[in-house]
Amino acid sequence: MRLLLVEDDPMIGASVQNGLRQEGHAVDWVRDGLAAELALRDNPYTLMLLDLGLPRRDGIEVLTRLRASGSTLPVLVLTARDAVSDRVRGLDAGADDYLVKPFDLDELAARVRALTRRQLGQAEPMLRRGRLELDPAAHSLTLDGEPVHLSAREFALLKVLMDQGGKPLSRAQIEERLYGWDEEPGSNAIEVHIHGLRRKLGAEWIRNLRGVGYYVPEHA
Ligand code: CA
Repeated sequence: MRLLLVEDDPMIGASVQNGLRQEGHAVDWVRDGLAAELALRDNPYTLMLLDLGLPRRDGIEVLTRLRASGSTLPVLVLTARDAVSDRVRGLDAGADDYLVKPFDLDELAARVRALTRRQLGQAEPMLRRGRLELDPAAHSLTLDGEPVHLSAREFALLKVLMDQGGKPLSRAQIEERLYGWDEEPGSNAIEVHIHGLRRKLGAEWIRNLRGVGYYVPEHA
Protein backbone atom coordinates (compact mmCIF):
# COMPACT_ATOMS: atom_id res chain seq x y z
CA MET A 1 0.00 0.00 0.00
CA ARG A 2 1.07 3.53 -0.59
CA LEU A 3 1.16 5.79 2.46
CA LEU A 4 1.83 9.49 2.94
CA LEU A 5 3.97 10.38 5.94
CA VAL A 6 3.90 14.04 7.06
CA GLU A 7 6.57 14.63 9.68
CA ASP A 8 9.14 17.42 10.11
CA ASP A 9 11.31 15.62 12.66
CA PRO A 10 14.08 13.92 10.61
CA MET A 11 14.74 11.13 13.12
CA ILE A 12 11.12 10.16 13.62
CA GLY A 13 10.38 10.51 9.90
CA ALA A 14 13.26 8.26 8.88
CA SER A 15 12.44 5.61 11.43
CA VAL A 16 8.73 5.52 10.52
CA GLN A 17 9.52 5.42 6.80
CA ASN A 18 11.99 2.56 7.25
CA GLY A 19 9.71 0.65 9.60
CA LEU A 20 6.71 0.82 7.29
CA ARG A 21 8.81 -0.02 4.25
CA GLN A 22 9.88 -3.18 5.99
CA GLU A 23 6.18 -3.95 6.33
CA GLY A 24 6.03 -3.79 2.53
CA HIS A 25 4.43 -0.35 2.15
CA ALA A 26 5.50 2.38 -0.22
CA VAL A 27 5.98 5.48 1.94
CA ASP A 28 6.19 9.03 0.55
CA TRP A 29 7.59 11.39 3.16
CA VAL A 30 6.98 15.15 3.20
CA ARG A 31 8.13 17.62 5.88
CA ASP A 32 5.47 20.32 5.94
CA GLY A 33 1.75 20.90 5.62
CA LEU A 34 1.76 22.52 2.20
CA ALA A 35 3.84 19.71 0.70
CA ALA A 36 1.33 17.29 2.21
CA GLU A 37 -1.55 18.97 0.41
CA LEU A 38 0.29 18.87 -2.91
CA ALA A 39 1.11 15.18 -2.45
CA LEU A 40 -2.50 14.37 -1.54
CA ARG A 41 -3.74 16.07 -4.67
CA ASP A 42 -1.56 14.04 -7.00
CA ASN A 43 -1.25 10.52 -5.54
CA PRO A 44 -3.58 7.65 -4.62
CA TYR A 45 -2.76 7.06 -0.95
CA THR A 46 -4.38 4.42 1.23
CA LEU A 47 -3.61 6.29 4.43
CA MET A 48 -1.91 9.40 5.81
CA LEU A 49 0.29 9.54 8.92
CA LEU A 50 0.11 13.14 10.10
CA ASP A 51 2.21 15.02 12.64
CA LEU A 52 0.35 18.00 14.13
CA GLY A 53 3.15 20.50 14.76
CA LEU A 54 4.31 21.23 11.19
CA PRO A 55 5.94 24.15 9.38
CA ARG A 56 4.05 26.13 6.72
CA ARG A 57 0.68 24.59 7.54
CA ASP A 58 -0.35 23.04 10.83
CA GLY A 59 -1.47 19.40 10.86
CA ILE A 60 -4.93 20.26 12.20
CA GLU A 61 -5.41 22.68 9.31
CA VAL A 62 -4.28 20.08 6.76
CA LEU A 63 -6.76 17.63 8.24
CA THR A 64 -9.62 20.12 8.43
CA ARG A 65 -9.13 21.11 4.81
CA LEU A 66 -8.88 17.48 3.70
CA ARG A 67 -12.19 16.61 5.35
CA ALA A 68 -13.81 19.79 4.02
CA SER A 69 -12.89 18.59 0.53
CA GLY A 70 -14.93 15.43 1.14
CA SER A 71 -12.02 13.02 1.46
CA THR A 72 -12.51 9.89 3.59
CA LEU A 73 -8.79 8.97 3.50
CA PRO A 74 -7.86 7.29 6.81
CA VAL A 75 -5.65 9.61 8.89
CA LEU A 76 -3.51 8.49 11.79
CA VAL A 77 -2.27 11.45 13.81
CA LEU A 78 1.23 11.26 15.29
CA THR A 79 1.34 13.72 18.11
CA ALA A 80 4.04 14.76 20.53
CA ARG A 81 1.38 16.55 22.47
CA ASP A 82 0.23 14.31 25.23
CA ALA A 83 -2.50 16.72 26.31
CA VAL A 84 -6.00 15.29 26.07
CA SER A 85 -7.21 18.51 24.43
CA ASP A 86 -4.80 18.02 21.48
CA ARG A 87 -5.90 14.45 20.89
CA VAL A 88 -9.54 15.51 21.08
CA ARG A 89 -8.85 18.34 18.63
CA GLY A 90 -7.27 15.88 16.20
CA LEU A 91 -10.15 13.44 16.41
CA ASP A 92 -12.71 16.23 16.09
CA ALA A 93 -10.90 17.56 13.02
CA GLY A 94 -11.39 14.16 11.36
CA ALA A 95 -8.52 11.90 12.44
CA ASP A 96 -9.36 8.19 12.63
CA ASP A 97 -6.80 7.32 15.25
CA TYR A 98 -3.72 8.75 16.93
CA LEU A 99 -0.43 7.70 18.48
CA VAL A 100 1.50 9.71 21.05
CA LYS A 101 5.27 9.97 20.50
CA PRO A 102 7.41 8.14 21.25
CA PHE A 103 5.56 5.10 19.95
CA ASP A 104 6.46 1.55 19.13
CA LEU A 105 6.84 0.75 15.40
CA ASP A 106 5.03 -2.57 15.80
CA GLU A 107 2.06 -0.77 17.28
CA LEU A 108 2.15 1.77 14.47
CA ALA A 109 2.17 -1.04 11.87
CA ALA A 110 -0.77 -2.76 13.59
CA ARG A 111 -2.81 0.46 13.63
CA VAL A 112 -2.05 1.03 9.95
CA ARG A 113 -3.36 -2.47 9.20
CA ALA A 114 -6.51 -1.90 11.25
CA LEU A 115 -7.30 1.46 9.64
CA THR A 116 -6.74 0.28 6.07
CA ARG A 117 -8.82 -2.83 6.70
CA ARG A 118 -11.69 -0.64 7.88
CA GLN A 119 -11.27 1.65 4.88
CA LEU A 120 -11.48 -1.32 2.51
CA GLY A 121 -14.58 -2.61 4.33
CA GLN A 122 -12.85 -5.79 5.47
CA ALA A 123 -14.23 -6.99 8.78
CA GLU A 124 -11.64 -9.72 9.17
CA PRO A 125 -7.86 -9.37 9.40
CA MET A 126 -7.34 -12.29 6.99
CA LEU A 127 -7.84 -11.82 3.25
CA ARG A 128 -9.39 -14.76 1.43
CA ARG A 129 -10.05 -15.57 -2.19
CA GLY A 130 -11.20 -19.17 -2.51
CA ARG A 131 -8.38 -21.40 -1.32
CA LEU A 132 -5.93 -18.51 -0.99
CA GLU A 133 -5.53 -17.02 2.46
CA LEU A 134 -3.31 -14.01 3.09
CA ASP A 135 -2.39 -12.80 6.57
CA PRO A 136 -1.25 -9.13 6.38
CA ALA A 137 0.07 -9.09 9.96
CA ALA A 138 2.16 -12.25 9.69
CA HIS A 139 3.13 -11.58 6.04
CA SER A 140 2.15 -15.11 5.22
CA LEU A 141 0.17 -16.77 2.49
CA THR A 142 -1.35 -20.22 2.23
CA LEU A 143 -2.90 -22.06 -0.70
CA ASP A 144 -5.06 -25.01 0.34
CA GLY A 145 -3.58 -24.56 3.82
CA GLU A 146 0.00 -24.97 2.55
CA PRO A 147 2.42 -22.07 3.04
CA VAL A 148 3.64 -20.33 -0.10
CA HIS A 149 6.82 -18.26 0.14
CA LEU A 150 6.72 -14.96 -1.70
CA SER A 151 9.21 -12.14 -2.08
CA ALA A 152 8.28 -8.87 -0.36
CA ARG A 153 7.16 -7.32 -3.66
CA GLU A 154 5.20 -10.39 -4.72
CA PHE A 155 3.43 -10.33 -1.37
CA ALA A 156 2.66 -6.61 -1.64
CA LEU A 157 1.39 -7.04 -5.20
CA LEU A 158 -0.84 -9.96 -4.29
CA LYS A 159 -2.27 -8.01 -1.36
CA VAL A 160 -3.02 -5.02 -3.59
CA LEU A 161 -4.93 -7.34 -5.94
CA MET A 162 -6.74 -9.20 -3.15
CA ASP A 163 -7.77 -5.89 -1.54
CA GLN A 164 -9.68 -5.19 -4.73
CA GLY A 165 -11.98 -8.16 -4.19
CA GLY A 166 -11.84 -9.28 -7.83
CA LYS A 167 -11.88 -5.87 -9.54
CA PRO A 168 -9.03 -5.62 -12.06
CA LEU A 169 -6.18 -3.13 -11.71
CA SER A 170 -4.11 -1.86 -14.61
CA ARG A 171 -0.34 -2.01 -14.53
CA ALA A 172 -0.19 1.76 -13.90
CA GLN A 173 -2.63 1.48 -10.99
CA ILE A 174 -0.58 -1.33 -9.47
CA GLU A 175 2.62 0.70 -9.86
CA GLU A 176 1.03 3.72 -8.14
CA ARG A 177 0.10 1.56 -5.18
CA LEU A 178 3.39 -0.33 -4.88
CA TYR A 179 6.05 2.30 -5.45
CA GLY A 180 6.79 5.62 -3.77
CA TRP A 181 8.48 8.68 -5.31
CA ASP A 182 12.02 7.53 -4.79
CA GLU A 183 11.52 4.00 -6.07
CA GLU A 184 11.22 4.02 -9.83
CA PRO A 185 10.10 0.55 -10.92
CA GLY A 186 11.81 -0.95 -13.98
CA SER A 187 9.64 -0.90 -17.10
CA ASN A 188 8.69 -4.57 -16.76
CA ALA A 189 8.85 -4.85 -12.94
CA ILE A 190 5.14 -5.56 -12.52
CA GLU A 191 5.20 -8.27 -15.19
CA VAL A 192 8.17 -9.89 -13.47
CA HIS A 193 6.32 -10.07 -10.16
CA ILE A 194 3.13 -11.29 -11.86
CA HIS A 195 5.20 -14.01 -13.47
CA GLY A 196 6.69 -14.93 -10.07
CA LEU A 197 3.24 -15.14 -8.48
CA ARG A 198 1.85 -17.29 -11.31
CA ARG A 199 4.79 -19.62 -11.07
CA LYS A 200 4.30 -20.10 -7.31
CA LEU A 201 0.49 -20.16 -7.17
CA GLY A 202 -0.51 -21.37 -10.60
CA ALA A 203 -1.36 -19.06 -13.51
CA GLU A 204 -5.10 -19.43 -12.83
CA TRP A 205 -4.83 -17.29 -9.69
CA ILE A 206 -3.57 -14.14 -11.41
CA ARG A 207 -5.86 -13.44 -14.33
CA ASN A 208 -5.58 -10.74 -16.92
CA LEU A 209 -8.60 -9.05 -18.41
CA ARG A 210 -7.31 -7.86 -21.74
CA GLY A 211 -6.98 -4.09 -21.94
CA VAL A 212 -8.23 -3.66 -18.36
CA GLY A 213 -5.83 -5.27 -15.91
CA TYR A 214 -5.00 -8.02 -13.46
CA TYR A 215 -7.24 -9.58 -10.82
CA VAL A 216 -7.45 -12.51 -8.44
CA PRO A 217 -10.56 -14.62 -9.16
CA GLU A 218 -12.98 -15.78 -6.48
CA HIS A 219 -12.18 -19.39 -7.33
CA ALA A 220 -9.50 -21.03 -9.40
CA1 CA B 1 6.52 18.28 14.35
